Amino acid sequence: RKLSMGNGAEKGENFEACGGSRIMVFVRLRPMGKKERENGSRCCVKVLNKRDVYLTEFTNDNDYLRLKRLRVRHFTFDSSFPETTTQREVYSTTTGDLLEAVLEGRNGSVFCYGATGAGKTYTMLGTMENPGVMVLAIKDLFAKVRERSLDGNHTVHLSYLEVYNETVRDLLSPGRPLILREDKQVMALLQRGNQNRTTEPTRCNETSSRSHAILQVVVEYKTRDGSMNVISRVGKLSLIDLAGSERAIATDQRTLRSLEGANINRSLLALSSCINALVEGKKHIPYRNSKLTQLLKDSLGGSCNTVMIANISPSNHSFGETQNTLHWADRAKEIRVKGCEVNEEVVVQVSEGPDQAKLVLELQEEN
Ligand code: ADP
Ligand code: MG
Repeated sequence: RKLSMGNGAEKGENFEACGGSRIMVFVRLRPMGKKERENGSRCCVKVLNKRDVYLTEFTNDNDYLRLKRLRVRHFTFDSSFPETTTQREVYSTTTGDLLEAVLEGRNGSVFCYGATGAGKTYTMLGTMENPGVMVLAIKDLFAKVRERSLDGNHTVHLSYLEVYNETVRDLLSPGRPLILREDKQVMALLQRGNQNRTTEPTRCNETSSRSHAILQVVVEYKTRDGSMNVISRVGKLSLIDLAGSERAIATDQRTLRSLEGANINRSLLALSSCINALVEGKKHIPYRNSKLTQLLKDSLGGSCNTVMIANISPSNHSFGETQNTLHWADRAKEIRVKGCEVNEEVVVQVSEGPDQAKLVLELQEEN
């Protein structure tokens, strides 16, 4: 049974109010790295007022001192994060409300998109000292589940998947999702998973990640409705660290990795064609064109809350990639989606007797 969400006062309403009709698009600028500073990189991106992004194109001159400004382009997004933004700020602005919606039985997804080295993995996974969206979301989820444990019963299933070369691999527990009972070990778990990710040396970046990583958190919530039926609500949160968006051609590895390159392109291309089809309001969305889009079918467009975080580097050496990323993010703002639905099912109807309803809840609690 799908319930259309009513307007108004429910939690996660920010998403219903503004994101219910389109996806939310954020941009995060990372700080200049040490290497970049040493090799004379010049900053070509500025974020102002937490919204505006200014991208400066310089003349193509090897001599740093002779660089001249060619033009400045301006973009705006739902929020734009300057290089000083903390992980928690990024989490709460992009994903906090979405998590609320997931707890109510809706689907949601957050993508990090951008070139290799732009800060996708830092944003999604982060470090021990500065955990990212995946870790903060799970901590927040458990805090909220604990807070609400009186009025129902939650089960949290977790899978961490990799799409590489059009093959889906489970990075944690091949075969079936893990049941997560507490959030304490989640960073270690995900870091272990990340070590299983396929990373290959490429010419343009030694640790370039050629794979997409998807953390899927399924929250099942059993409770009672007004007439004491036991109902089950299932919300799914997908957190996605996409492969580097740079064009394979720039890395000059066509011979060795042509197959892989084609497949990476296939998933990213399929994602962009799905997004284009959603932008244009097409009836047919080509989800089946790649493994990535098949996995994200119920978390992209349609009845789901979708957030995109475009990661960019400040260095003028990354100008081309940054410009591409900003273009794509700008286009993603056009995506219109239907209002988000609740995935709800009646498990035990009250006609079967209130005792049975009680029994089901008790059995759930024992597990
Ligand atoms: P990607 O996953 O997009 O290839 P990474 O997340 O690995 O890029 O980031 C590249 C480097 O920049 C890493 O060393 C990472 O720690 C650093 N970095 C990225 N974003 C930030 C940030 N917001 N603050 C500090 N360091 C960052
Ligand atoms: Mg990465």
